Amino acid sequence: MPLVIAMDGPSGSGKSSASKGVARALGLRYLDTGAMYRAMTWWMLRAGVPVEDAAEVAARAGDPKIESGTDPGAPTISVDGTDVSGPIRTREVTNAVSAVSSVPAVRERLVALQREIIGAGGIVVEGRDIGTVVAPGAEVKVYLTASEAVRAARRALELASDQTGDQAADQAATVTVTQAEQARRDRIDSTRAASPLAKAGDAIEIDSSELTLDEVIGAVLRLAEE
Ligand code: C5P
Repeated sequence: MPLVIAMDGPSGSGKSSASKGVARALGLRYLDTGAMYRAMTWWMLRAGVPVEDAAEVAARAGDPKIESGTDPGAPTISVDGTDVSGPIRTREVTNAVSAVSSVPAVRERLVALQREIIGAGGIVVEGRDIGTVVAPGAEVKVYLTASEAVRAARRALELASDQTGDQAADQAATVTVTQAEQARRDRIDSTRAASPLAKAGDAIEIDSSELTLDEVIGAVLRLAEE
C-alpha cells in the first residue's frame, strides 16, 4: 500500500523543508496544502472579495481553478493557469489567509481537491488538518512543533526574502511584527470552528526547536520505516 505521510503543525515549525526532504528521500510526491489556501486567498484579494465577509468568501469559493504540482524538487501552484508561487507568499496574503481558510465552503472545496491529489498514496502532505481530517488513514502522522521564538525567527527569514531595502534591513523590527502576526494567525488557525489546527491522537510529535533539518528528516524517515 503506497505510503501517505501527514505532516501537520503551526506556521514556522519547519514543515515545508522537512516534508520536501522526506518526499525526496523516499521518492514520494509532495503536497503543500497551505499553498492551496494561500492561492484561494490571493484570488479573493485580487477579485476584490472582502476576506472578512465569510458569506461572500463562501459564495466565491468555487470560482478559482487551483492546481498543485507535486514534485518535491519544484512544487508549483497556479490559479486559473497563472503561476502564483511568488505572490502567495506576500505579507498581504499571509495576513488574510486565516480568515479565508476559516470558511467551511473553502475547506470543503480544497479538502476535496487534496483528497483527489492524494489518491492512491505515495505522497507527503503538509498542512494543519491532514492527520485529523484530510487523510485520517495516513500510515505516518507527524505533528511538528517548535518554540514560538524559533518559529518567528524562521518566518522572519522567509519574509526577508520577500521584502526590499528598509524593511529587510530592520531585522529586529521584522521579527517583532512577524511574531505578533504569527501569533494572531496561529490563534485563528487553532480556534476556528472548521477543522482547527490540532494534533491527531495517533500523531507523533517532533519538536524541531533544537534539531537541524536533517535531524527532523531523519526522525520522520525512521517513523516511516517502522
Ligand atoms: O502552511 P502555511 O503557513 O503556508 O499555511 C497558510 C494558512 O493556510 C494557515 O495559516 C492556515 O490558515 C491555512 N491552512 C489550513 N489548513 C491546512 C493548511 C493551511 O487552514 N491544511
